[in-house]
Amino acid sequence: MSSSLPPSKGTPARPASQAGRAVLFPEATDAQWADWRWHQRNAVRNLAQLEKVIPLTPDERAGVQETSSLFRVGISPYYLSLIDRDHPLCPIRMQSIPVRAEARVRPGELEDPLGEDKTRPEEAIVHKYPDRVLFLALDTCSVYCRHCTRRRITKGGEAELSKEQMRRGIEYIRQHPEVRDVLISGGDPFLLTEERLEELLAPLYDIPHVEMVRIGTRVPVCLPMRVTDSLARLLRRYAPVYVVTHFNHPKEVTPEAREACERLVDHGVPVENQAVLMRRLNSDARIIQELSHALLRIRVRPYYLHQMDVAQGCEHLRTPLAKGVEILQQLRGHTSGLAVPHLAVDLPGGGGKVTLQPDYVVERGTHDTVFRNYKGERYVYPEPEELDCSCPYDAVWRERRWG
Ligand SMILES: *Cc1c(COP(=O)(O)O)cnc(C)c1O
Ligand code: SF4
Repeated sequence: MSSSLPPSKGTPARPASQAGRAVLFPEATDAQWADWRWHQRNAVRNLAQLEKVIPLTPDERAGVQETSSLFRVGISPYYLSLIDRDHPLCPIRMQSIPVRAEARVRPGELEDPLGEDKTRPEEAIVHKYPDRVLFLALDTCSVYCRHCTRRRITKGGEAELSKEQMRRGIEYIRQHPEVRDVLISGGDPFLLTEERLEELLAPLYDIPHVEMVRIGTRVPVCLPMRVTDSLARLLRRYAPVYVVTHFNHPKEVTPEAREACERLVDHGVPVENQAVLMRRLNSDARIIQELSHALLRIRVRPYYLHQMDVAQGCEHLRTPLAKGVEILQQLRGHTSGLAVPHLAVDLPGGGGKVTLQPDYVVERGTHDTVFRNYKGERYVYPEPEELDCSCPYDAVWRERRWG
């Protein structure tokens, strides 16, 4: 944390990864453990390495073998240190070690579940919505998530975009004045060197119509030591930069993760979270609520709760649509509104995101609408008499706002 600022309330003294570290990586020095490049170099990437540190179940062993040609395995020592070695349904374990079900492709599952390749005018750009684009900067991650729905990209050859592809992506944005929001993703953009990241942020900052940048990253969750002061200062120079991270379970909200997120926020970089709802991993209102509360305590805003995409090999993690709605219903009203994420379904084939929520309307009349509240009680909301909602001053404001 930035040394001049106090930590938020309730910061545990002892990093959560310490016990696991002592068992799995007893030879690692403190300096190595604090060095994100050491974690990258020592990531566990195959069955032999994995079996040395975790007693695998037969399903996991077969899973690693049967998925080896489909999607890579890669787990940072830090993330591995959070695994419960005695329980195969540990959420850290389920997100990082494949099981046999992942090798099975079910009817309806797609290689490109969100139809992104249809709206990909450049290698680096997915342009699906009117005013924002996704910029795919690289195909490398600190941990390869078993639920990754962009595995057609992340299964690749550990490549970064060439300078030419990067230049063409930036040029596309420069030529499209309607683009005001750029989401940099991949792969994980925080695995770029700071020089490389700056080569992307600086030209985007110079494009007048780009109002904001978001960076999608799992680094605060899987490789928190990568969030150095120097990275946070770099992001701050190109404000507004929002970091969108990906915690799925409160077990991931460790003191190390807290330090990474708070470092970003202390440098003026807001952090939002996109979780994925996964069957038997976090598909329970109690868990999502604990996750939201844990995130708010470290100043991270819950943003989306994603219904699992219909990606190949992910069916075993998919929840029925009704489950997510039920979870939201158990949160809304019962806890802070800030702790209630939007439940998003990204429509298969490229339709884009829609949101689902519980239906609180019981009866819709012309003058009155009858609602049930979070406790199930009925309340009536009356319509106003006047219905004209036009805003005449807006013509004046639009003329003057820059004056
Ligand atoms: C999710 C997504 C976005 C961003 O959507 P928001 O609802 O603005 O967060 C942009 N482009 C693509 C292709 C996406 O999948
Ligand atoms: S960090 Fe993101 S892109 Fe990388 S494997 Fe996980 S879900 Fe996929």
